[in-house]
Amino acid sequence: MARLVAISGSGAKGPACFMIEAGAARFMLDLGYGPQPGLWPSVDSVGRIDALLLSHGHRDHAGGLSLLPKIGNPPVYATATVARMLPPEIVANTLPEQGVSEVLGVRVETGRSGHAPGGVWIHLALGNGVLYMGDYSIESMVYAYDPPPPAELVILDASYGGYETALAECQKNLDPLFDEARLLLPVPEGGRGPEIALHLVRSGRDAPYIDEAMRSALRRLANTDHASLREGVAADLARLAATAKTIDGPLGVMLASRADATAGEAARLIGQWEHAAEPGIVFTGYIPPGTPAERLTRSGRAKYLRWNVHPRLSDNAALVRSAGARTVVPAFGEARHLPAWQRAFAPARVVVNQTVEL
Ligand SMILES: [Zn+2]
Repeated sequence: MARLVAISGSGAKGPACFMIEAGAARFMLDLGYGPQPGLWPSVDSVGRIDALLLSHGHRDHAGGLSLLPKIGNPPVYATATVARMLPPEIVANTLPEQGVSEVLGVRVETGRSGHAPGGVWIHLALGNGVLYMGDYSIESMVYAYDPPPPAELVILDASYGGYETALAECQKNLDPLFDEARLLLPVPEGGRGPEIALHLVRSGRDAPYIDEAMRSALRRLANTDHASLREGVAADLARLAATAKTIDGPLGVMLASRADATAGEAARLIGQWEHAAEPGIVFTGYIPPGTPAERLTRSGRAKYLRWNVHPRLSDNAALVRSAGARTVVPAFGEARHLPAWQRAFAPARVVVNQTVEL
């Protein structure tokens, strides 16, 4: 018998944090912060946790580790790549990018989630299987995706609600902007940044101008973190890291961190260029309220054009079918999409903001 409690991340975009109780063992899946500034999961009444498993290193999944003392400082499990991104005081137990481990006596299988360096889905052998997808994508050109095994309960990445546009379509919308002379894209260097850079060179365009965060992310991906990559990508990323020019004034396509421009080179450049006519500015990911990304898209100074890093509704429907899921918890999306999820995932039961018993 097992029980899933969504502490945060069900029914709304918010920090990822799920708890699974199996007998006396209490697992936590992800402990995030954000994505909007100041948004913490509420763990005060959670009590003792025996193991924290991290799906990937993005802030909204792994940025809440300062809360560990409130849940009894449990051991942390993460892939080696994700472990390298954690605060130095965290000594993580290693999960394989693809493979099987045992945590608290339970068989845990992990596979690459096509979303971020070191990112994995997590399958727990409880009942007929519990599958936590974290964030995932089957469309990434850079990050590899391993199809997960069957599970009766699937917690899936429903960040995009009922959205259905293919990444290839998104690229077609962005390509004319890439061909303009000057364009700044604030990006996460451990996510879409390398994907957009690879798209530019593989579509015959000039290499982008990049900031130092992008350059070291490209270098890490090509060297230490290549287990997350699709085949044939590492050499292209290494070449980009070595040859892409550093951003120096408004020239060409510029990729700079952070994605919401709250910090980093993107924040600095926007400080310079917000009130100038050029360069163009395009945000391509989630726009957290209260950030420069929101201010500039609202004022019309910046455009918003999505670059998929999460699954479409049909990707999720295919996952639910291939897993043979009986119960689906759509995570990270707004509850108003419930009717669309119910239609897409039937005959599986769709649960939002409720405890699930196995
Ligand atoms: Zn993510």
